[in-house]
Amino acid sequence: MKKTIFSGIQPSGNLHIGNYIGAIKQWVELQNFLTDSDLIFCIVDLHAITVKQDPKELRKKNREVAALFIAAGIDPKKSKIFIQSENPDHPYLGWILNCYTPFGQLERMTQFKDKSTRLRERSGEASKQDSVTAGLFDYPVLMAADILLYDTDEVPVGEDQKQHIELTRDIAEKFNNQYGEVFKLPAPRIIKETARIMSLQNPMSKMSKSDENPGGAINLLDSKDVVADKIKRAVTDSGSEIAYQADKPAISNLLAIYSRVTDTSIQDLEKKYQGVGYGVFKKELSEAVIEFLEKFQSRYNELMTEDGNLDTILDEGAEFTRSRSAKKVQQVKDAVGLGR
Ligand code: ATP
Ligand code: MG
Repeated sequence: MKKTIFSGIQPSGNLHIGNYIGAIKQWVELQNFLTDSDLIFCIVDLHAITVKQDPKELRKKNREVAALFIAAGIDPKKSKIFIQSENPDHPYLGWILNCYTPFGQLERMTQFKDKSTRLRERSGEASKQDSVTAGLFDYPVLMAADILLYDTDEVPVGEDQKQHIELTRDIAEKFNNQYGEVFKLPAPRIIKETARIMSLQNPMSKMSKSDENPGGAINLLDSKDVVADKIKRAVTDSGSEIAYQADKPAISNLLAIYSRVTDTSIQDLEKKYQGVGYGVFKKELSEAVIEFLEKFQSRYNELMTEDGNLDTILDEGAEFTRSRSAKKVQQVKDAVGLGR
């Protein structure tokens, strides 16, 4: 059956191995498996400006992320890649959906609670009022619009986005109850073992672009030495066994990373490292991650130097999505009674 798959990543901060394992790797697998489907991958710059961004840096990141997608295996012949702000239907539908989203439901979003708390802590008491914007609060509604514009069947994401997709379904259902079947209800697609790659410095919190602790995330563009150092300094658990289990969150996280960058099962890795100490395990993990990143980065560097190609890909992506979303927007306008 022909399906539509949609997902996005913010062009803020540095993309890390958690973004790759939790999201992009899944996209590539889906792309190569669902040959008859529409796959749409978005660089969500309108989401990125919910927190402060440097304009030059943001533009640079938009291109970088497009090249990172392709280096990771997204094939522009099979999937569409576009920049969110180049399709104005996203904020347009976002506004309309705002008017169908209960405020109280947005107040329950854990990502908003976490991010706003962190922002307030960082900016201190003095600027308490200013650091958290209405856009940050409203983030999940724009995300609902992103997804609903394309009659998306599945949204491949990491675990942290599950609540936002549930909200998307709620908004769509409520709208449909009032106006008939306008929106398709999307389902999250989350791979359990790797849906939540944790910080190397704190296995209780997820690896994040917005983490202030630079040792917590392995970035996709980190150099060999930086990666080796980060893995060396990664926290471990008490005991000495290499095992994937609840009381060993740090080692379990390292095993999950190891497993996904080498396409080896966690069980096989546990067997391989039976009776072996943390030191050797970390050294070999580090070699595996470096090997993976070296291949990845050489493809990335080529793409960044090829003139024009990236622009053609992004132009085609934007055009494809605009023609598709225009139909959905018209349907929504007709339902609500907007315009003439
Ligand atoms: P930020 O801290 O700015 O929110 P982020 O690291 O969470 O950045 P996003 O752009 O918000 O990155 O998310 C992009 C995709 O990566 C989403 O599908 C999200 O679920 C996934 N993702 C993010 N962090 C992780 C992680 N630690 N493990 C697995 N998947 C992740
Ligand atoms: Mg995030």
